[in-house]
Amino acid sequence: MFDGLKDKLGRFKDDVEEESDEPEAEAGESVPEESAETAEEPAAEPDADEEDDGPGLAKKAALAATGRTVITEEELEEPLEQLELELLQGDVEMSVANAITDRIHEELVGETRKQVESGEQVVERAIAEALRDVISVGQFDFEQRIAETDKPVVVVFTGVNGVGKTTTIAKMSRWLEERGYSSVMANGDTYRAGANEQIEEHADALDTKIITHEQGGDPAAVIYDAVEYAEANDVDVVLGDTAGRLHTSNDLMAQLEKIDRVVDPDLTLFVDEAVAGQDATNRAKEFNDAAEIDGVVLTKADADSQGGAAISIAHVTGKPILFLGTGQGYDHLERFDPDEIVDRLLREE
Ligand code: GDP
Repeated sequence: MFDGLKDKLGRFKDDVEEESDEPEAEAGESVPEESAETAEEPAAEPDADEEDDGPGLAKKAALAATGRTVITEEELEEPLEQLELELLQGDVEMSVANAITDRIHEELVGETRKQVESGEQVVERAIAEALRDVISVGQFDFEQRIAETDKPVVVVFTGVNGVGKTTTIAKMSRWLEERGYSSVMANGDTYRAGANEQIEEHADALDTKIITHEQGGDPAAVIYDAVEYAEANDVDVVLGDTAGRLHTSNDLMAQLEKIDRVVDPDLTLFVDEAVAGQDATNRAKEFNDAAEIDGVVLTKADADSQGGAAISIAHVTGKPILFLGTGQGYDHLERFDPDEIVDRLLREE
């Protein structure tokens, strides 16, 4: 999961390291401003006071950690530009790539630090903070929200077809059951042929109650019936599917508005697939603009190397990614924990 992104961040760290291992003038390469005469010892003494052939970047970061010196703008420029480019190539949204590199820049340039850390640790911490900033936007504890909300809690799932919405509802039913909550599923995707059969299969496998209407029925009415069923049978959570495609996007949004009016969901979760990258980020924004979402489930993270959507969606929409789908099984639903994701991305194996 997100291996490509992990590699990119690792390369940025290495770039910075490399600078520190090399004399200012690299043999065989044209060096814009520095002259080759400064090429002596790879790493200068920590307390070296020379301005021109002073310590490399990581060393300076270490010095910054002791509060003695700081990294200059120029030294970071190239590695940061490279990182930004690679993030963009990995489908990270432009504003998010900028936010990450700006934050790393802010962390590393012009700051003096008190605690003693290695240069590598300083750089790594800067990356971690930059990532955490963008991916933890709007985070809340979903389980606690379920616990605190009056029952039945009504959760509606939106998103386009094929991204794993129905599977996610099934996984969520299992996830809730494991935490002691009963659920009923409602097939609000009355538009798509075969949608009832598909969700019924999951309901059978999970032994969860399912409410369906005939194809062409009113999605809001199906979810409304499920709410009534839940109220009458002390069911804790209603999981409502919606159509992922209608004749026009106006129809699609009208459907969501009507559901909002008729059942007033406690939570609306937008589902999309991590592998769709920038498209998933754009759709999250469109859906959120049209019918406000509370959070996101990003499926197929197991098949996504780039991590572009995972890194971008919360920052772009202001709504948190709450879960990752990590496989086709019912147990393949993981809470999206920003700290753990950052750890995973920076952990050396
Ligand atoms: P829907 O049209 O959005 O309801 O999509 P489905 O729930 O039918 O899922 C479409 C396909 O994606 C199915 O083959 C699922 O098994 C698969 N799928 C769903 N979630 C995941 C996931 O997290 N990882 C992987 N690898 N496949 C998934």
